[in-house]
Amino acid sequence: MKYSILVDTYEKLEKTPSKLGKRDILSELFLKTPSKKLPRVVLLIMGRVFPSYSEHELGIANQMMMKTVSKATGFSSGDIEKKFKERGDLGLATEECVKSRKQKILFKKELTVDNVFENLHRLAFITGVGSQERKLNLITELLTSAKPKEARYIVRTILQELRIGVAEGIMRDAIGKAFLIKEGMTKEEKNEMIEAVEYAWNIMSDFGEIVKIAREKGIVGLGKVKIRLGKPIRVMLGEKAESIDEVIKNFGKIAVEYKYDGMRTQIHKKDDRIWVYTRRLENVTNQFPDLVDVCKKGLKSRECIVEGEVFGINPKTKLPLPFQLLSQRIRRKYDIGKMVKEIPVKLHLFDIVYLDGKPLFNKKFIDRRKILETKVKIIPNKLELAKQLVTDDIKKIQKFYKKALAARQEGLFLKVLDSKYVFGRRVGGWYKIKPIMETLDLVIVGGTWGIGSRVNWLSSYVLACRNPDTGKFLPCGMMGTGLTEEQFKLMTDILKGLILKEKGRRVVLKPKIVVEVAYQEIQKSSKYESGYALRFPRLIGIREDKGSNEADTVKRVSDLFKTQGKVQ
Ligand code: AMP
Repeated sequence: MKYSILVDTYEKLEKTPSKLGKRDILSELFLKTPSKKLPRVVLLIMGRVFPSYSEHELGIANQMMMKTVSKATGFSSGDIEKKFKERGDLGLATEECVKSRKQKILFKKELTVDNVFENLHRLAFITGVGSQERKLNLITELLTSAKPKEARYIVRTILQELRIGVAEGIMRDAIGKAFLIKEGMTKEEKNEMIEAVEYAWNIMSDFGEIVKIAREKGIVGLGKVKIRLGKPIRVMLGEKAESIDEVIKNFGKIAVEYKYDGMRTQIHKKDDRIWVYTRRLENVTNQFPDLVDVCKKGLKSRECIVEGEVFGINPKTKLPLPFQLLSQRIRRKYDIGKMVKEIPVKLHLFDIVYLDGKPLFNKKFIDRRKILETKVKIIPNKLELAKQLVTDDIKKIQKFYKKALAARQEGLFLKVLDSKYVFGRRVGGWYKIKPIMETLDLVIVGGTWGIGSRVNWLSSYVLACRNPDTGKFLPCGMMGTGLTEEQFKLMTDILKGLILKEKGRRVVLKPKIVVEVAYQEIQKSSKYESGYALRFPRLIGIREDKGSNEADTVKRVSDLFKTQGKVQ
């Protein structure tokens, strides 16, 4: 199959904003793709050559990519960087370079899906001395044969920024439409087909495999999909509860657990092997050899899938460390032994979904917990169960809530005793309670121009509080999410006129605009001049009524830091 067929589809998808439109384009492509090629085509449409849970990575960053483009096209790295800045997209910059390439091509062959897939696949297995050079050669080989548009998408795939807007839901619906939904089916029947794909997706997390089953074995095959150790399942999440009272009123006696502030972890065990996945099903086994060790010792069954929350603990005080320290461990790929010592972790387990060949997700939560209790050997400060209380006494729950916050955790989870494990969704059954954080009014003092479709927008903003003594504005965080397209446009329009300095994509702004910002937490930080950093700040609104001299002070940030997490 020619790679150009896939590339034409990428382009159509990029130009089609509607989800239904994208679904139809994909189902047409799948129907005309030979069965043997389907898994690869589906993965490439998701912008990948490995499923998301794989530990393999291509390991190519922008700088290396620019070097490769230079080698393949004859343009200097400086030229390429300039084009990259102008377009905000290295794929488009490469396309331009390939169009007017300076290097003569002696031998040119037409690229196939297999050529591209296999070369990218091989990138992940190149290690050791000279690996950069060998990786560079593999990509150059593709780019010298690529037509301009093909080069655009090869580069974007390698950098994992395909930008064609195909999320999981669209992929699920496209597979359903191509191979399961038939003319004349009722709405209910159609829904059943889509749910069958969703079911398989929850359990396998790999559309490459699912598409093959859907085409060859239909809905019956999808229904028979089984949990496999080493392939993560999609995790159950909780909904926000209005109040503790309301949950008790609706469900009576419930299981109340600490809501730990860390990393959701799904752990698979098969004999001596352990796998560790995050909530987004990334494989982080290599980053956490200490967890692997603890699980080998503490999980008593031969095979299981358990879930829990991991957080870092101060090696001396044994108190929880801020999440930002743990996140260093999640990202770190080298010096892992050092990280293990500096940021030891503790795991609190709260669920078991699979045991010795049997799925448990249809069992009641309270029964799963009982099974979990018999299958875990507690290792103090390393492996414990989530603290739990089963009650309908609101006073007891309030006390437990205060204890959770005093232990530096986020709040509570209220779990309905007979709820089944529901994959990948926020549905009833688990409810979370967290203290409400007071908002802050902060000044925008800087920003960054976006990339890709956001190239004309200032897409992240430096937030600052005020030092009333010096009149200076002290940065305390960056806000780049939680804004709608409209809000980004509006902010850019307002802020453009306030630019004082520009360097690369960064701008310094005249401190004028005050915004009301919510956040998850205030952390101590040496990264920002104020000494504090807001975790996950999000825009509530622009305070048109406030001038920058009325923005919140660093003292208020510090006071909120001290009182945060207390029950109101
Ligand atoms: P949120 O991120 O606010 O939607 O909360 C959901 C997250 O809370 C889950 O993904 C878990 O990582 C985390 N969590 C902490 N403690 C628990 C618990 N006892 N039960 C379930 N999830 C928990």
